[in-house]
Amino acid sequence: MLLPVFTLKLRHKISPRMVAIGRYDGTHPCLAAATQAGKVFIHNPHTRSQHFSASRVFQSPLESDVSLLNINQAVSCLTAGVLNPELGYDALLVGTQTNLLAYDVYNNSDLFYREVADGANAIVLGTLGDISSPLAIIGGNCALQGFDHEGNDLFWTVTGDNVHSLALCDFDGDGKKELLVGSEDFDIRVFKEDEIVAEMTETEIITSLCPMYGSRFGYALSNGTVGVYDKTARYWRIKSKNHAMSIHAFDLNSDGVCELITGWSNGKVDARSDRTGEVIFKDNFSSAIAGVLEGDYRMDGHTQLICCAVDGESTVGREKSLKSQIFNLIESEYQEIPLQVRGYLPGTAEMRGNLMDTSVEQDLIRELSQKKQNLLLELRNYEENAKAELSSPQSEADGPRGIIPANTKLHTALSVNLGHETQAAHAELCISTSNDTIIRAVLIFAEGIFLGESHVVHPSIHNLSSSIRIPITPPKDVPVDLHLKTFVGYRSSTQFHVFELTRQLPRFSMYALTSPDPAREPLSYVNFVIAERAQRVVIWLNQNFLLPEDTNIQNAPFQVCFTSLRNGGQLYIKIKLSGEITVNTDDIDLAGDIIQSMASFFAIEDLQVEADFPVYFEELRKVLVKVDEYHSVHQKLSAEMADNSNLIRSLLVRAEDARLMRDMKTMKNRYMELYDLNKDLLNGYKIRCNNHTELLGNLKAVNQAIQRAGRLRVGKPKNQVITACRDAIRSNNINTLFRIMRVGTASS
Ligand code: CA
Ligand code: CA
Repeated sequence: MLLPVFTLKLRHKISPRMVAIGRYDGTHPCLAAATQAGKVFIHNPHTRSQHFSASRVFQSPLESDVSLLNINQAVSCLTAGVLNPELGYDALLVGTQTNLLAYDVYNNSDLFYREVADGANAIVLGTLGDISSPLAIIGGNCALQGFDHEGNDLFWTVTGDNVHSLALCDFDGDGKKELLVGSEDFDIRVFKEDEIVAEMTETEIITSLCPMYGSRFGYALSNGTVGVYDKTARYWRIKSKNHAMSIHAFDLNSDGVCELITGWSNGKVDARSDRTGEVIFKDNFSSAIAGVLEGDYRMDGHTQLICCAVDGESTVGREKSLKSQIFNLIESEYQEIPLQVRGYLPGTAEMRGNLMDTSVEQDLIRELSQKKQNLLLELRNYEENAKAELSSPQSEADGPRGIIPANTKLHTALSVNLGHETQAAHAELCISTSNDTIIRAVLIFAEGIFLGESHVVHPSIHNLSSSIRIPITPPKDVPVDLHLKTFVGYRSSTQFHVFELTRQLPRFSMYALTSPDPAREPLSYVNFVIAERAQRVVIWLNQNFLLPEDTNIQNAPFQVCFTSLRNGGQLYIKIKLSGEITVNTDDIDLAGDIIQSMASFFAIEDLQVEADFPVYFEELRKVLVKVDEYHSVHQKLSAEMADNSNLIRSLLVRAEDARLMRDMKTMKNRYMELYDLNKDLLNGYKIRCNNHTELLGNLKAVNQAIQRAGRLRVGKPKNQVITACRDAIRSNNINTLFRIMRVGTASS
């Protein structure tokens, strides 16, 4: 059995995912983690006395091997690694909602401290694409930004929603790394520098990503799912009722291939085969896992898998030591529950990958006997069916009950149902059998459509028939595979034949073909030219929409009109003889989806598009005005706060002077003034906080608008639009910004 080779207990409660190991002096690995009190602790078991003089770091008074770094606000991400290869040692990077700090722990000095308007929810350190220097890449409010060791931002782009996870991985196997971005809109996007090369839609927020090897990577969702992708194909996934707190790739059984190690919210750690998801090792901590990492923590030349948990077995803090009374000021922190760290060495060759000892065999025996039970049950069912067929021929009153005819076929059809008074419009799946058999139940597995991914339709015994209609309402415009299990038999059957089949729900199934109404045609549009025959566009329409069977679209020029089943919005797609296509819709996201769908169907690499979304652009103009206002309020408040702190200093000095002069009246007055000033400062702080929240919300809307303008284009024009939009915003050139969003370029 694999046992931990070391265990540490540290007196700090740490924030999940904010743990890293770095060699801050180039040699000794040290664990660094963000505490929930706005500090970062650095555990350095190898050097006993280090003297820190600057203000950021101080020695922990209770533990000689722990230093604390003051951040003074909630840490939102943390990592360590090589940022400047010339230094020969690692930098510590700490992100908050407003700043990114790159810290030289060895010299106790800042490498840089940058304001980051879009916040830093996630961070990854490494090289990206052709950019030669390592970058600290942060993901925030719809934005991605990468800094070199001097704090220059060499990389910037926007993405669809708030970023929750980042990883670097050679996704396309060209030897250079791509950036994987997991965000709040359930998408994993792959950036080749600033170009999106792949998008995978998941079913929940992507909370963690980790590179494994080659183009393979692990992911975790906020609903307890973990799994492995190879490029755009998902290998496997499992779903737990616990949350995956941290994932990491590590070869624990020494077979040369990394396993996916997951640390869970219930304290479980498991290692799963990258190919199958099968558990090859597990261990339990008494509280949630905060981080899974690797490092040679014992400095013996062997890399260990290192798991950190927030331990529940607390004794520290209960007993008030003399020491903790002396350090009363920081005592609260030490009453937190201590953190537990365990390190595991990979299994040896003699263990032959059998890390769990006998439990593997026991599991296998349990699994096989379960299989045996199922097979016996199946055999008995066949025997009973055959008996029923013989003893009760079809003439009996309650009809046949045995095996269904061998030529029974199952038909499925997808269509659009416009709904009626009591039922909203929806897409509809109709399943029917080819004879007098009935459908007893249908089990549907599909991602992102039903609560909990599966849906059972089970008509009452009085409503059984040979066909069944199931409403389907996908919340997003993505193609979804519907995996169906249909139970077919007779009214009085006790056993049913199960038909298994898969149907794909097309991407735009929530749009019904309707007759055009010129009065309702949307003013917003995108316009572009593609070198494709109209028939091919018709094939694209057929594959991506649920068109009625009798639809007969003539050759170009033609136009089709759809109505959204979600909000009644109109969508027009018109094609001219020249190959010019105009799409009218007020939904800029839908326009982007249609362009991206056509681009992948027709394999278009670059597409320039002319666009206008008057209502949306007007909203954006208002947002930009607000951003300006919030910025100036921010500056005004900061100046006021600086003035007030000067005033406080002088009041305090004058009050103390008065006390020394035993002028109690003046002293009292000064302290009263101080008290009032303090109240003002507190109010000012509240205003600053609200102002900042509003500013963040508006900045997010601006980033989203840039991303949407980009999604209306394909390839190079897309990247040009995103870069030009950012330049326009930096130089505060609003008219140029809208020109770029409309025609795709700043120059006329
Ligand atoms: Ca690559
Ligand atoms: Ca392995």
